[in-house]
Amino acid sequence: MEKEYAEIIHRCFRCGWCKLPTNFQDFNCPAYLKYRFESFSSGGRMWLIRACLNDEIDTSDRFAEILFTCVTCKNCVEACALPKIKDKLVDIFIDARKDLVEQGSIPPQVRDYLKAMGVSGTPYKRPQEERASWAKGLNIPYYNGQEYLLYIGDAGSYDELGMKMSRTIATLLKEAGISFGILGEQETSDGNDVRTLGESGLYALLAEQNIAKFNNLKVKKIITLSPHGYNVMKNDYPKIGGTFEVFHYTQVLLPLLNNKILLDKLTAKITYHDPCYLGRWNNEYWTPRRILGSIPGLTVVEMGRHMKDALCCGGGGGNFFTDMLGSGKDSSNRVRVREAVDTGAEILAVSCPLCYKMLDDAIKAEGLDEKIQVKDIAEIVYAARKT
Ligand code: SF4
Ligand code: SF4
Repeated sequence: MEKEYAEIIHRCFRCGWCKLPTNFQDFNCPAYLKYRFESFSSGGRMWLIRACLNDEIDTSDRFAEILFTCVTCKNCVEACALPKIKDKLVDIFIDARKDLVEQGSIPPQVRDYLKAMGVSGTPYKRPQEERASWAKGLNIPYYNGQEYLLYIGDAGSYDELGMKMSRTIATLLKEAGISFGILGEQETSDGNDVRTLGESGLYALLAEQNIAKFNNLKVKKIITLSPHGYNVMKNDYPKIGGTFEVFHYTQVLLPLLNNKILLDKLTAKITYHDPCYLGRWNNEYWTPRRILGSIPGLTVVEMGRHMKDALCCGGGGGNFFTDMLGSGKDSSNRVRVREAVDTGAEILAVSCPLCYKMLDDAIKAEGLDEKIQVKDIAEIVYAARKT
């Protein structure tokens, strides 16, 4: 573990605030919410890692399971009582995972995910040639010096709902006359989830490969579909020489509204789920809300936990693929859709392909299909645009 982290880990005094949102509404750490066992909270992890560093306990399968159930949602970073450690909490967990990856002491689900990423470059275990199948029939150009590179990512390339998002966003950008291109079959994973799972070697390989490719193509501006890709390209690529102007797709859509994209009335009651990697990781709470607020006829209502207090869908930190948290009534995606239904909204808006799938699955598991539907922000704009 990094010396800087080992030196501050003892400061956690187990006050337990890290489990809660700022309004104390309910438990807001997805791992603790599911297991209700102290070790699965941020403070519990800090004490376990400390005990391990002091040789009081050995690493074990259970220890690894506890570390890899953290979905890196950063609720604890917002809520922790101690300014000297709060910003470092998730970095400490990722660093501790790094040690476990190096020792080979990782849960089977994590090992399988990392193996798939190492072998085929995608957790979906699908051929690289299928990466652009979402764009079939749309006539989207390959990147060739246009103003923006539209970076799709793994879920947008292979997941059914992610592919729907990719098609809608590309169509809206095309209709608005934005100059952009895609990498298609040449695109490779952004590496964000590999990084948060602690596989630093594979992350470096993926990131360096992307940076070299973008530089060769003289890419200056990137639009990402996923907040996960947005986060790693904006905050981590610059540390290894990859400096690009990175936008989440909502940030490009907003200035186009009532300008290049004219809006009609769309009558519905809607609530918005903040993705952790756009919200808490990047402080971007308002652009998606401004988009929804621009559509005449929409009534936007907030869930009790929103913005900095939002409950994670459970898909971060690699859990979307490893499913370390598993399902059940207390899994955070199911708790989240019940919270959305309580607002009376009939649409649950998202801006991340992982949230889309996690929450859509939860609606089915809860049998709430008749009450609420998940829709991506671009899909909502698409439905409201004047044709
Ligand atoms: S809020 Fe901070 S100090 Fe308190 S238990 Fe959690 S990590 Fe430790
Ligand atoms: S990052 Fe999220 S899941 Fe991980 S310990 Fe903190 S609150 Fe819990």
